[in-house]
Amino acid sequence: MFKKILEDSKREVSGKNAKEYVSEIMRFHRIQVTEGYNKAASLCKKIFEENGVETEILEYDSDGKKMYLGFLSPEGWSIKKGVLKIDGKEHANFEKENISIIQRSIPFKGEVDLIYAEKEEDFKKGCLVFTHDFKKGKDFARNYECLGIVTDENRSKFDAPDSLQYLSFWGERLFGFVISPREGEKLEKELKKGKKKAYVDIESSLFPSKIKIVSAKIEGEKDEEIILISHLCHPKPGGNDNASGAGLSLEIARVLKKFKKPKRSIRILLVPEIHGTAAFISQNNDFLCGLNLDMVGENQFLCNSPLLIEKTPDATPFFGNYLLQEILEEVKKEVSNFQNTFKYPLFMYFVTPFSGGSDHWILSDPTIGIPTPMLIHWPDKFYHTSFDTIDKVDEKELKRVGVIAATYLYFIANMGKKEAEWMAGIVTQRAKQRILESPDIDYTVDAGKKNLDSIKRIENADVESLKKEIEDLANFEKKKIKIKEKKIKKGIVPKRKFMGPIDLSKTLLEMPLNEKKKFNETMEKYKDFKGTSDLAVFWADGKRDIYEISKNVKNEIGKVNTDFLIWYFEFLEKHNLIDIKR
Ligand SMILES: [Zn+2]
Repeated sequence: MFKKILEDSKREVSGKNAKEYVSEIMRFHRIQVTEGYNKAASLCKKIFEENGVETEILEYDSDGKKMYLGFLSPEGWSIKKGVLKIDGKEHANFEKENISIIQRSIPFKGEVDLIYAEKEEDFKKGCLVFTHDFKKGKDFARNYECLGIVTDENRSKFDAPDSLQYLSFWGERLFGFVISPREGEKLEKELKKGKKKAYVDIESSLFPSKIKIVSAKIEGEKDEEIILISHLCHPKPGGNDNASGAGLSLEIARVLKKFKKPKRSIRILLVPEIHGTAAFISQNNDFLCGLNLDMVGENQFLCNSPLLIEKTPDATPFFGNYLLQEILEEVKKEVSNFQNTFKYPLFMYFVTPFSGGSDHWILSDPTIGIPTPMLIHWPDKFYHTSFDTIDKVDEKELKRVGVIAATYLYFIANMGKKEAEWMAGIVTQRAKQRILESPDIDYTVDAGKKNLDSIKRIENADVESLKKEIEDLANFEKKKIKIKEKKIKKGIVPKRKFMGPIDLSKTLLEMPLNEKKKFNETMEKYKDFKGTSDLAVFWADGKRDIYEISKNVKNEIGKVNTDFLIWYFEFLEKHNLIDIKR
């Protein structure tokens, strides 16, 4: 059904072009709401326009006070200089390595005492503190009135001990520097012998500014629109995260513009991650569906990084998850065995449930209701470090993802009755398969029916007889198993207070240290269930009680801890982020 589009996309999408766009974007230090980001946005607008794609730059106030949905807008930040010297020797210099300063550092100039802090008691007022733990370190530094921090925190410390990790303050009034794990090891040894004199010179400022969003449009015949989104922000180099997503979006737009005008329009958004999407969506949310491209160019072998299709949450059912899988099945046919009896891929891939953490988190929230799967690579050895450079970006991988994305977008943009019916058949087949494997048949039937209904968002299709087919199979299967009647107890009923996901940043920033420590301890205790809180929030419609929500999360990802969810919802209630009916 999509073969022709797939062939056209394979012919037109150029990995080489995409990689050139990626490297052009990588010239800029693209921290949210900064000059570097704005320059990258202007460059992207220029490229879209050179390729004949109508583009505008949208602006939204961003001052550290204004909220968009549940998200606090960041202040603008500029930096001219950022130097750290220890005993006269340079250890960090923003000009040479943009990532060597903790982003959004406040200005400071002068000589200070540098001490090593292993635990909370070691943080001393008026000092610069070296700590391995950035997250706790910044909280202690704030609480004990330290001037700033130096850290070698690094998630790739074993794979890349000379890399620097991307770290940022979000509202904490501190300054800081990032050094490599190898340098950190040496510095720890020296500071254990006694404090050192450090010289700091940072020229920076924080000020009210504007979030800028690049909004390009492939015009369709109808008014309806589909979104392709990717975040343009992040520090230099930020090759795979996420110059790759933005650069590939430029290439996809170039290709789609050459195709016959689609029925529906395709809106391409390049945003500062999360904050830009929240600002945009708070003012326009009339879209059919979307696709998020985040970290899409990985050289899989260098980065040890598989391609993932991340589905929408079950609370926002969407046939597009299956469409992506069908396209992937075709793209996988890369090479043949000896006598050409079978075709298979030369890359790693996986289809995963919703996990969030990028712009599709906002779009796919049921209170926003724009079902948006994501294409991403995860994990990635070099993610958020100074080693996320152009040599980790692979033009073949950009092309694979570009072909999948372009086929998905153009297929949905042109979906008519015939395509909708084909899609309904696929969804039904998948639902039946799930029923045979599912421990909770009712949940699966419901999900299957909602997936069928999601087709009608795009094109009217008769799905009622297919729903009946799903129900019939379910009834037949249910007769085979004895269903244990569980004692029905009624639990708390959480209800969303506002549109969009619940972001804890502002709450945690304003929280006293002791309370925050308790929060962190509880989160640590339930760390295996971390991702379940966002999924649970999606189900909190004011009708389902905690046991039903918990059961749904279990059905969705195979694990849940109801005690954790109860604690989490009560925490949200206490901080005025959700209502609870008892
Ligand atoms: Zn990213």
